[in-house]
Amino acid sequence: QQYQRLFNDYKLYLDTVSSGTSSGLPLLVQRTLANQITLLERIGRGRYGEVWMGKFYNEHIAVKVYSSKDEIGWRRETEMYNSYQIRHDNILTYYASDVCSRQSFTQLWLVVQYHKEGSLYNFLQSNPVTYRQMVIMCHSIAAGLVYLHQDIVGCPGKPAIVHRDMKSKNVLVKDDLTCCICDLEHAMAYTINWDFREEGVNVKVGTKRYMPPELLDLTIRTTSFSSFKAADMYSFGLVMWEIVMRCIISGMVEEYNVPYWSIVPSDPSYEEMHQTVVIDKIRPMIPTRLLDTSSLNGILTMIQECWRQNPLARLTALNVKKKLQKMVQSTEKENDNSTT
Ligand code: ADP
Ligand code: MG
Ligand code: MG
Repeated sequence: QQYQRLFNDYKLYLDTVSSGTSSGLPLLVQRTLANQITLLERIGRGRYGEVWMGKFYNEHIAVKVYSSKDEIGWRRETEMYNSYQIRHDNILTYYASDVCSRQSFTQLWLVVQYHKEGSLYNFLQSNPVTYRQMVIMCHSIAAGLVYLHQDIVGCPGKPAIVHRDMKSKNVLVKDDLTCCICDLEHAMAYTINWDFREEGVNVKVGTKRYMPPELLDLTIRTTSFSSFKAADMYSFGLVMWEIVMRCIISGMVEEYNVPYWSIVPSDPSYEEMHQTVVIDKIRPMIPTRLLDTSSLNGILTMIQECWRQNPLARLTALNVKKKLQKMVQSTEKENDNSTT
């Protein structure tokens, strides 16, 4: 309800202004939205822009500020949220986009819900998780990915969408410790007559460290949209590995590490990732202590089934969500048993 005003302002300008500016959004929005937001603290920094925590009336919001150099990224992400009305508990909630001028520079804004815990990457650095928290986190990300990957027929429907940059920095942790997926800059929708060659986008997008083998060696079958879903599943497997590694088992927990931390340097090159993932077929290491823990069997097997070399042999997001659903339910039963 608190955000209703924001939506109303946004709808108002959509309804009343039919012609756009050269940057894709009508002018009126500049007076209605950006001026009502105060940016308070920088909470993230990317290649082209910054993410700020700000205030809209009395509510915290987050603003992803793209520099005008990256107008294409801003436009892609705005269109992704706007065209398909993406709404799901496990996808970052989008409020509006805006174009404004600050210190005589043009800024492109994407206004979204603020999550004070920040990214999963940041969260895991300082917080170990219990088994139950771990399965709930993984399940919530899987639910977000299922929503993206599936097409929904009806009103409002949505096409199947692939994320193409799944990593722990693109997952945010909500107050109840469930997660939501963010950063839809590289996302791609499966619309009628979809043809990758006509998308005008590069196939090798995303983060090198999280790239599946078929993208690193470019053997991905770009004629099939589901190839891109399988690519997301590989990266999601790495994210789940990061979470499992921070799970407290018999009072012990591993340090936080990024996938392949001991094999490739920070900011690895394509060549280094290709050697590791395609040639040597290495995957993130799972300590024997965890492999020998029977309660982790299910989730570890599932992770390995997500990062298989052969994309066709990987689990789908729906498979993973269903398996995790069962794991969540059985922790609930255990909880009940222990309280009775
Ligand atoms: P980029 O395209 O530059 O990677 P992201 O959308 O992934 O931008 O945001 C970058 C970082 O900013 C995230 O990894 C996260 O740490 C932080 N961040 C982004 N959105 C939010 C938000 N809504 N609430 C809290 N932190 C956020
Ligand atoms: Mg990001
Ligand atoms: Mg990005």
